[in-house]
Amino acid sequence: MPANLTPPMPAVFIGHGTPMNALEHNAYTDAWTSFAQSIPRPRAILAISAHWYINATAITAMSAPKTIHDFFGFPDELFAVRYPAPGDPELAEQIVDVVKPTWVGLDLDSWGLDHGTWSVLVHMFPEADIPVLQLSIDAGKPFDYHVALGAQLAELRQQGVLIVASGNVVHNLGLLEWSRPDAGFDWARDFNEAAKRLMTDDPGQINGLRDHDHFRLAVPTPDHFIPLLYLAGLASAAGRGAEVLVDGYAMGSLSMTSYALAATG
Ligand code: ZN
Repeated sequence: MPANLTPPMPAVFIGHGTPMNALEHNAYTDAWTSFAQSIPRPRAILAISAHWYINATAITAMSAPKTIHDFFGFPDELFAVRYPAPGDPELAEQIVDVVKPTWVGLDLDSWGLDHGTWSVLVHMFPEADIPVLQLSIDAGKPFDYHVALGAQLAELRQQGVLIVASGNVVHNLGLLEWSRPDAGFDWARDFNEAAKRLMTDDPGQINGLRDHDHFRLAVPTPDHFIPLLYLAGLASAAGRGAEVLVDGYAMGSLSMTSYALAATG
């Protein structure tokens, strides 16, 4: 069937927060679930998680990716979570071709599905019966590389692949106030609102956030911010803004805002 007869699959950025969201049911996880229930069943899921942050762009290409518990100090119940979705080695090879000349390496045995991916997918697709691939974030590349690579992935939307970017726009673990679960510091709100304006109105200019007064406080390390750049690239390629799926703050220095790029894009 020619690709232009079917609407493209939506794409999404999820503000995933702490790993405990895998076990909890709250306004955020409810929004993730509702989004997944509102879209056509994807052929596969391509996840871009803040937690696979390495020195190359790679894609998982094994047929049975393992569940990775990449955190410490959380309850045993969280370490017991498994997300046994299959991989899709053939699709991994196709994606390598789609983004050429950008180089993407095939990962056969080093990674799998980390909690940036499975803490979200256990809510979105609890059956774990849709193939999932993860794309790593190359820590050495400038922001515009990630926006451009996001735009290159747009073709996958036409093939029924759901792109799930997973991070947090504001993510400063050093300043967390655990006693204030729903608080957002003024600087965090200020930065998050600026991000929201760009994502909804002019996603192609997302790199302008680097010049925001609170960039260093909101983004002390870029790992959780960069997944947003992939959705910005996809939105920019679609010529439209993203929509806020759910919004809020946690422990002062985390924003939980998620964005969706709708099917009509
Ligand atoms: Zn995280």
